[in-house]
This record gives sequence, structure tokens and C-alpha cells, in this order.
Amino acid sequence: MQEFNCDQQLSELTQVVTSLAPIGANLTFMAYADDIILFSKTESGLKHNFKILEDQLALCGLNINYRKSATLGITSKRKKWVCNPKPILKNDQGTITALTINDTYKYLGVKIGALGAIHTPKEDYIKAMENITKAPLKPQQRLKILREHLIPKLLHQLVISTVGSGSLKHLDALTRSYTKKWLKIKINCSKAIFHATADDGGLNIQSFLYLVPLLRYGRNCKLLGYDDPLTHIVTENVTTPAPVIAGTPVTTKGDVREHFGKLLHSSVDGKGLLYHTTCPKVHQWVRTAHHKWLTGRDFIRAVHLRHNLLPSGMMLSRLSSAHSKSCPVCVNAPYTVAHILQQCPRSHGARIKRHNAICKYVAETMTKLGFKVEWEPMLRTTEGPLKPDLLASIGECAYIIDIAICSDGIDPDKVYLDKITKYGPVADALVDTYSDIKLSAFVVNWRGAIAKRTLKDFEPLVTSKGFSTVSVRTLQYGNYIWDMWNRSTVVSFAEAEM
Ligand SMILES: [Zn+2]
Repeated sequence: MQEFNCDQQLSELTQVVTSLAPIGANLTFMAYADDIILFSKTESGLKHNFKILEDQLALCGLNINYRKSATLGITSKRKKWVCNPKPILKNDQGTITALTINDTYKYLGVKIGALGAIHTPKEDYIKAMENITKAPLKPQQRLKILREHLIPKLLHQLVISTVGSGSLKHLDALTRSYTKKWLKIKINCSKAIFHATADDGGLNIQSFLYLVPLLRYGRNCKLLGYDDPLTHIVTENVTTPAPVIAGTPVTTKGDVREHFGKLLHSSVDGKGLLYHTTCPKVHQWVRTAHHKWLTGRDFIRAVHLRHNLLPSGMMLSRLSSAHSKSCPVCVNAPYTVAHILQQCPRSHGARIKRHNAICKYVAETMTKLGFKVEWEPMLRTTEGPLKPDLLASIGECAYIIDIAICSDGIDPDKVYLDKITKYGPVADALVDTYSDIKLSAFVVNWRGAIAKRTLKDFEPLVTSKGFSTVSVRTLQYGNYIWDMWNRSTVVSFAEAEM
């Protein structure tokens, strides 16, 4: 019933405004729901139209709230214009405030004044960021609020306003500065880490500098497409050049995504995230705050490892030549996070623990689904004895699974295929016991990307959240290896041989 009345009032309102006489200008009004703007070339014209509007609204039982209304008077003299602060509309009920040159009026969420819609929401943005910083939240929750509430809220104002690229750049710098504070990132790093999508290996935070011009472009294109004489008046001076990024015009959000993806994957620390694009579902932990067991500290450390931000010798040598680029343990090996996590003999023991942790996760998942799981069964094959990590069976069906945590420079699918080739003879050896044998490998790289073929094999058994858990757990164990390596002072090659 309420909705019906409201609709009826709005249709009355449309009739009212369309009956206004155009005085001295083609466009006499703009209206969105009950937000109405009247235009007139002369004061008497405005008074005349205001009277008509007020009378007609009274017929529908509606009054104009004088306290919430404002007038803006602009007069032109000898090629100069001035803002006239003298009130134009007044009667027994009161006076409608006239805006001065510095005053603004909020229309559809945007502050508009004599100088146009010049309001930069910088102060509001900083205030909101400060509030998020002070609130007792985990960093992943802060990022979620930033992505899903703060940025979209500002986008509307920015798209309608005339805020320039300098201010947009400044807002982006603010976004990155607060994000760095929340994530305890203390070094200079590529902008792409922040603005690339989570699926490309970034933190999934939109950039005002690129998104606002793109949305303005889309809006203008839409306006120009309307076959309506009044809209044509508004769009007469509208031009629609597509925004340009690095010399290339961009017309879709996909183009912006591609730009930041390429930027990330061409950076020193981001090139190892190339395979993240092949497994979008595993990056849920970055995009959402759904993994409740993940502490703020562990989230921050996982991000640091994923983005190669740990203080390795190679990283520190970029800041000062006093730091060595070579591993202090090995001869002729680079002092990089990749070397320490994947190759260095000092971290051998911790590496085994990471491997076993992922094995345990897969085994537990299979057990929960009713599979009987055997760890490292020794199987006699035509190629000699082979020992895959897991043999999970249920009835006539058996999964032979090997687990691998590979480097970030190799396609995880290639590692998968190598494992399948290696354990092929195991399937032949089990043919008499099981009628349905599946040969698979659970391959994840140290930065959290999972092989496409692994995802396909395990899709019926593991949820997206489950894959995301494996991704972030691998990073957590990567940090454990890093800590162990930094803590141990004695190099034990004997231990490495174990
Ligand atoms: Zn080493």
C-alpha cells in the first residue's frame, strides 16, 4: 500500500515538473525521485517556476522543506561571473538559503557549489581509514571493508564529480599507505601488488586513478546513447575519450585488470605469481575474511611470503650493497626466499614437515569422505618398488596420490605430469585389487598456486574453501621454514641427507 502511494505521488510530481514553463532556457528542471533542481536565466523566472512547483506539490499534499533547500545565483558581467549570495526565494514561511562562492549543497550524495562538483572526499576517506585502523579488526577484515564498502562508496561521488587525476592518484597513494600499515609492509614494493586482482596474485584493491575515468567514460557513453531531447541538452558538450593506460586506451574493467596483472608478473617479486592466474578459486583467503582460524599475524606473514617481501639477502642487497646476495650456507647459491624454502640443505627438515602437513590435510579430507588411507605404501611394480605418498581406497576405487610443493618458476601442471609418469607403474600393480584406479598428484607451489590438473582431480572431493586452505597453509609452512632457517646456526649436511 505504501509503495502504491509513493508511486502515485512520484507520477504526480513528474506531471508537475513537465508542466513548468521553460523560461529563458531549454532545460528548466532536473529531478531524481524527490530531489528536484530548477533552472532559470532570470530571478523572476525562478520565482515564477518555484511558485508553480510549490502550488502543484501542495495539491498532492506535499510541502517544500525550506531549510533543506538552497539557491545558487550566478551572474555574468564583462566576461566575468560572480556568485550572488542574496537570497532569491522567500515568503511568509521563510527564506531559502543562497549559497556563497564557497558553499556547497549535497545533491545525490555529491557536494555541488558555484565552482562545480569540486569536492574531493579526501578528508572523509582519511577519517574512515583511521577508524578502520583503530577498530579491533584483523587485517583481512580491514581489507574487506576497504574493498567492499569504502571504495565503492567513494566511487559514486568521484564518478559524478570533476575530481582530477592528481587527486585520484593521491587517493590511491592513501589506500596503499594504509594497506601497508595494516599489513606491516615496510619496504617499497610494486603498486601492482595492491591493485592486481587476487586471482592474478594481487591484493584485489581497486585503483581510483584508473577506475574513476573508466566509469565516467561508461556513464557518458550511456548518456550519449539516450534518444531524449533533454538528455541531448546535457550531453551537448560531453566528449567521451576512453581513458589511456600506458599509451593504450582502456574501455573495460578487464583492461585495467590486465594492466595490473602484467605489471605484477613483470616485476622482480611478482613474476613468481604467474601461475596464480590458472587457479582463481584458491585465492579466496586473500579476497574474503572467511577463514576464521587464520589469525591476523598469520595473514600478514602469508601475504609477505606470497609477495616475496621477506628480508632475504637478495632483497636487502637492493637497499644496501653491504648485504650479501649469496646464501651463507651454500656455495654459489642465491640468498633468496625461493632458495631457502626449496633447496637450501639447512631447511631440509622443515621442508619435510611442510610436505607432511599438506599430506596430512589431503589424508584427513579423504578419511572424512570414508576413504581408507595408507601413508607411503611400498608397492612392487615392474619398475621396481615405488612409494607414493598416499593410497586412498573405498570399495573397488583407489586413489594413488603423491604430494609435491614445487618452485614458483615452473608450471605446476608439468610437475603433476612428471609425478603421473613416475607412478604410472603403481596403477598396473594394483589392477588385480581395484577395478577403478585413479592416479593423481597434489601439486602446489611455495607461493600458494595449485596445479590446474590437481584442482580438476580433487574438485569432487575438496571445496573451493578447502583448496584456499591448502594454499594459505602452504604459505604458513613456508614461513615456518623461513623461521627455522633463520634460527639454526649450525649447518648440518648430515641432517640434510636424512
Ligand atoms: Zn643455501
